[in-house]
Amino acid sequence: MDPTARPSELSVEIRPGVRRPDWSAITEPQARRALAGRLASRAGLLNRWAVKLGDDEDLLWRTILWLYVELGCAPTRTEMAARTGVPDARLSTLLASLRSHDLIDLDDVTGEVMLAYPFTEAATGHRIHFGKHTLNALCAIDALGVAAMYRRGISISSRCHQCGSPIHVETRAQGERLRSTQPRGAVVWYDFAYDGSAASSCCPAIAFFCSEEHRREWCGTQSPPRAGIDLTMGEATQVGSAIFGPILMPG
Ligand SMILES: [Zn+2]
Repeated sequence: MDPTARPSELSVEIRPGVRRPDWSAITEPQARRALAGRLASRAGLLNRWAVKLGDDEDLLWRTILWLYVELGCAPTRTEMAARTGVPDARLSTLLASLRSHDLIDLDDVTGEVMLAYPFTEAATGHRIHFGKHTLNALCAIDALGVAAMYRRGISISSRCHQCGSPIHVETRAQGERLRSTQPRGAVVWYDFAYDGSAASSCCPAIAFFCSEEHRREWCGTQSPPRAGIDLTMGEATQVGSAIFGPILMPG
């Protein structure tokens, strides 16, 4: 995929009139390079998204994500069935399909949802304070995308991937812009690795750093060197908004 191609060529229509990623969320050149670089290096991901979901798959996907913030954790099969009216056998089929698109993952034993991007049941260290609940995001970009996805201000608590010092980020009500970042010079490393499941490949290395200096120190210790791009918090918020903003938009 050519990263210099027109932005409209590097997105897919996830439902009528809704394209993902939403390039209009991007104004910073470095954020544009990050998104283009990601799509170029993870062609497999765009291919997975490009297969349009059926109406009932799409409904279940959105229901899972709404229930996630309503309950403060992954919804159970019983809760999903109650909300959607989908019978259990059909639910299994739809969940397996969403998993094949790398939109959710399931516990192999129980069949219950373990993660639905941007959220996971695993303790990743990226904590999203969303209303009365605290949720785990898979990575720094997923955390920053939550606000644009639900159209509401949130705060994020995490730690520097190099020194472990606390990092705190707040977004404005509509989510696309930052309200505050502590420490002010905190940055994000956006890793491009992808092996078919974001959660197991790139997510662990898409992280917050307390400073550009610590980001550079950490990158310097990686062998082989990691492919990716450094982002300011503002640029990273644009990338998160572009990727997650469209997900709950009605078609
Ligand atoms: Zn640090």
